[in-house]
Amino acid sequence: NRQILLKSRPIGAPTADNFELVNSPIPTPAAGKVLLRTTYLSLDPYMRGRMSDAPSYAPPVALGTPMVGGTIARVESSQHPDYQAGDLVLSYSGWQDYTLSDGTGLNKLAADMPQPSMALGVLGMPGFTAYMGLLDIGQPKAGDTVVVAAASGAVGSIVGQIAKLHGCRVVGIAGGEDKCRYVVEELGFDACIDRRDADFATQLAAACPAGIDVYFENVGGAVFDAVLPLLNVGARVPVCGLIASYNATDLPAGPDRLGLLMGTLLKKRIKMQGFIIFDDYGHRYPEFFSAMSIWLSQGKIKFREDIVAGLENAPQAFIGLLQGENFGKLVVRVAA
Ligand code: NDP
Repeated sequence: NRQILLKSRPIGAPTADNFELVNSPIPTPAAGKVLLRTTYLSLDPYMRGRMSDAPSYAPPVALGTPMVGGTIARVESSQHPDYQAGDLVLSYSGWQDYTLSDGTGLNKLAADMPQPSMALGVLGMPGFTAYMGLLDIGQPKAGDTVVVAAASGAVGSIVGQIAKLHGCRVVGIAGGEDKCRYVVEELGFDACIDRRDADFATQLAAACPAGIDVYFENVGGAVFDAVLPLLNVGARVPVCGLIASYNATDLPAGPDRLGLLMGTLLKKRIKMQGFIIFDDYGHRYPEFFSAMSIWLSQGKIKFREDIVAGLENAPQAFIGLLQGENFGKLVVRVAA
């Protein structure tokens, strides 16, 4: 049973040394337990927070224990009345081949689901995050200009497509030409600006001639600095993630822009609201699942997965996620 443990807490960007791959015997299920074999492991930005022991909305991973993570797993063997060998489940097994479960938190998936990894992306946590953050907090109206960064990623790609379905003008921000081309040509956004271009802020302003009504915040940092002056009176800003600062060890160098931020919120009556998807919206998952299933079956939502082969490659893939190396929802194929 291969497991990837958190060996040490990163200072700044995580490195391979923060992880340790170990091998242990495959456990045997006692009465009331199932043995799960991981097939897909989801890699998500929030895992950077779990590697750190700074106060957060969820406890850190303890040193010397497996990294946490959402997974798709097969029941290998079962001593639990509700599960039998071969069942496919959504679980929270973490970065390892095998785990025991008493059934808590498991969700059965159709055993013949053609692409089970979708339950970790477009039909799972990231898709749900895009749906609730945009619709409940962003309140998009037809004709609004909606801006989202990390636009080719798991959350951003869905935010923009749902906004298009609501009749909005949608401008994405992404790292690199390939991602920007995909966002416009495949996902149907109206424009996409490369955050790495030197004149990024000027290009963003030109792509938003009527200002910004909804800014779905995925990244923070320099992208937010460019967005702030473009926000319209009454704009809504769902604060979903701040990935640009997840590896930061200090506050950025001055000047202090807090006054500018607060002044803009006040004068333009802007609503900014953070959210933690399952804590705040867990009860609305069925509504999301049925809406997204219909859009997918009608071909109205597209998605892209970045699938990395082999559990041993999870640390490197995760390190790359925090630097924009993934292109689409990052998933590790752990077993066939
Ligand atoms: P993505 O699939 O979008 O991958 C992360 C992307 O972030 C990278 O590909 C890169 O895109 C971008 N990025 C990385 N570093 C930086 C940087 N320094 N500055 C700007 N952009 C950067 O990840 P997800 O869709 O899973 O997550 C997107 C955001 O949503 C994250 O902030 C995450 O923490 C948050 N989130 C929040 C949830 C909640 O409940 N609040 C739930 C789920 C996700 P590019 O190179 O194209 O810019």
